[in-house]
Amino acid sequence: MPMKTIPPGGIIGMLGGGQLGRMTAMAAARLGYRVHVFCPEDDAPALQVCDMHVRGDFLDEKALTGFARNVDVITLEWENIPIKTLEVLSYARPVHPGAAVLRVAQDRVLEKTFARDHGLGTAAFRPVHSATELAAAAKDIGLPALLKSTRMGYDGKGQVLIAPGADMQKAWSDMGAPAGILEALVDFECEVSVIVARRADGAVAAYPPVRNIHRNQILAETRVPAGIAPAVAEEALKAATGMAAALDVVGLLAVEMFVLKQADKDGHRVLVNEIAPRPHNSGHWTIDACGCSQFEQLVRAVCGLPLGTTEPHSRAVMHNLLGSDVDQWQDWLKQPNARLHLYGKAEARPGRKMGHVTVVDKL
Ligand code: AMP
Repeated sequence: MPMKTIPPGGIIGMLGGGQLGRMTAMAAARLGYRVHVFCPEDDAPALQVCDMHVRGDFLDEKALTGFARNVDVITLEWENIPIKTLEVLSYARPVHPGAAVLRVAQDRVLEKTFARDHGLGTAAFRPVHSATELAAAAKDIGLPALLKSTRMGYDGKGQVLIAPGADMQKAWSDMGAPAGILEALVDFECEVSVIVARRADGAVAAYPPVRNIHRNQILAETRVPAGIAPAVAEEALKAATGMAAALDVVGLLAVEMFVLKQADKDGHRVLVNEIAPRPHNSGHWTIDACGCSQFEQLVRAVCGLPLGTTEPHSRAVMHNLLGSDVDQWQDWLKQPNARLHLYGKAEARPGRKMGHVTVVDKL
């Protein structure tokens, strides 16, 4: 893809107004860019720090066209933006990442199939569309297994653990979506992720793999360094950079993976679980422990600037502040090694990502 450079002073259009958009806008401002946010909400974290808000529905073509006209390049902080939205916008301005990447990332069956087709490991899986198909898939894969909605799933939403002897009809209706994927339950040693920045000319910069600890299927902690064997780190890096290149991502690609206790029958120690073509919660540590954060890296990638360093200068443990965890903000501020980031959300509902704190230490 030919690469157009958008120098500082340019305007970046951001689809979505959440905390990922907020932290991208802050990084963009530091480099002298302005950010216009398109989102349907009136009150969203990115709106407190951006240059302009265009309020509209993602399917409102008139609002989208007006938004596109006033920006130089468009990126996003949420992968479930309708494909139609990206198509409409791309008539007017470059959209990075584009519709083809989002199409894969929005669908768990497509993303796992894509990984498989590119020689990467995944958990055994079957697409399912009814309780009858689910029962057949369970026979194939074996139980326990996880039933997930194919689309719109995040943070464990739309997921049902199916134990041996479970009622398939009930599991199917508990999942609550018209299409699902049944996945073998992976007995992993740990979970890691890799974030890759990639420019239109194919230049890439990848952060080292980090270790992720989930509670109730929501990311609780990210640890850097990951404490995994060099060969496993190499395999994870190769999987993530390979996927970013195969998908022709411009911007960021986060790849979440399981590390197996030992290699599977195909020789994989690492299985791809999920991809996200945007800044990722497991990359928040880069703000405080890297010379160039994932957010700055996104700005650099979509504006065609030199990519930044991905080398950590400190150890880091990132803790998500979910719901009422945010009430501890004063305690975190008293800790000299803790860097507190709050997202400006008014209401601390249980499980809601209110902020994060990164505790840094000498490497
Ligand atoms: P996901 O929504 O696919 O990112 O899943 C959220 C979390 O649930 C993952 O980070 C894992 O901790 C767990 N999980 C998801 N899929 C599997 C699986 N096939 N086997 C074991 N654990 C899983």
